[in-house]
Amino acid sequence: MAISASPIASDECSPCVPPDGSAGFLVCVGQELAKSLDYKTTLQSVARLAVPFLADACFVQIVEPDGQLRLIANAHVDDAKERLLREAIGRRRAGVSPMAVRAVRRREPVLVHRLSESLLNALAQEERMALDPWTLDAIHEARSESSVNVPMIVRSQVVGVLSLARLEGSPPFGSKDVRLIKQLARQCAQAIDNARLYREAREAARARDELLAATSHELRTPLSEIKGFVSTLLRSDVTWDEATRSDFLQEIERDADRLDALISDLLDMSQLASGGQLRFDRSPRSPAVLVCGGLDRVRLRVARSAVDIDSTLGKLPLVYVDPNRIEQVIANLVENATKYAPGSPIYIRAGLAEDGSTVDLVIEDDGPGIASQDIEHIFDRLYRGRATAGSKTPGSGLGLTIARTIVEAHGGRIRAENRPAGGARFVISLPVDPSVRRSDR
Ligand code: ADP
Repeated sequence: MAISASPIASDECSPCVPPDGSAGFLVCVGQELAKSLDYKTTLQSVARLAVPFLADACFVQIVEPDGQLRLIANAHVDDAKERLLREAIGRRRAGVSPMAVRAVRRREPVLVHRLSESLLNALAQEERMALDPWTLDAIHEARSESSVNVPMIVRSQVVGVLSLARLEGSPPFGSKDVRLIKQLARQCAQAIDNARLYREAREAARARDELLAATSHELRTPLSEIKGFVSTLLRSDVTWDEATRSDFLQEIERDADRLDALISDLLDMSQLASGGQLRFDRSPRSPAVLVCGGLDRVRLRVARSAVDIDSTLGKLPLVYVDPNRIEQVIANLVENATKYAPGSPIYIRAGLAEDGSTVDLVIEDDGPGIASQDIEHIFDRLYRGRATAGSKTPGSGLGLTIARTIVEAHGGRIRAENRPAGGARFVISLPVDPSVRRSDR
């Protein structure tokens, strides 16, 4: 198809004037979409190009994360009506037609030749949506006669719907129009996708920077301590006795462990921040063995704490988990108990949920507990308790975020609460191995 010879505006700011031919129109649309990554603005320009070139009214709706459609751009041959619709839509989250809903569900264009109230109601019923009076008014207000609703699909995902309508007196849409509108919808979908990918990339970069900024201090402290102990041990003018040397070496080992744990957390978090998944290798595991594995990882830290393990732990069914990751979570909770409840015994209990679907592992301490203003935030990324943040207790505020990510990726849950008698309680619910559940039936 030859591109129309009609002049196309090249100025970055002035809107493109669509020529007669459909190819020229699409070139114009491409230029508008390329002007900015703010797709609400560019799609509004596209809606204006489509009216009156293709239709008397144009509506662009996007699929929100909750699956609902939201109108983000519209144009109408009658300026007053366009303004009225925009104002009304700005006030209320409505104006979604059953044709648009159907186009999203079926992932194919929905063409209506003669729109009537009875047809609208029938479609709304089929799509199981309530047609609120305001939406009906909006559709009447647009005075559309025939309409085409094309899903905007990119990378196999429906990102929105492009709806075009013609008013009484205009010819109904034909197959050539539908072909052109499908192409237009593809271009709009691509623009939405590009803008979203760009935003996600920027957010991931910002999250990584924030993570590094927040944790660089935590990295530097153990490193400078290691350097201090090594320099001291290397002094040629002092002879250290065996006990002092051993103390220094233990401090160095502790700091190195701290660094190692923090670097693992950072790697996990940077993977999550860039939208990646943590890798899991799941198999049926005994809760008792998982607890032993978790404690073993922090054996130096818990050496000075009394650990009270419920004897029923060994009688519980197997859970279906990645042992490496769940031991990491248990180790983190136990280590937190040693940090925030120093000197307190650590209680580890477990039980089977009433419906038999999960094993609940409970890790508790007798310490000060979690302050009420912190309790709903402690699983947030980089969040440290208010009393903790200013203290010398080392930490980065990443441990519980990673713990929650790991547990939830297993289909489980983790929660924190305070014990009535004082102290913190963490409960991890892990899914029972499906083969155990099947054999119980
Ligand atoms: P970090 O320990 O590095 O600060 P976490 O994500 O592991 O990060 O914990 C977040 C916050 O939760 C801690 O800063 C602390 O305030 C609180 N917290 C965690 N475990 C306990 C506990 N056993 N008792 C009291 N507070 C706790």
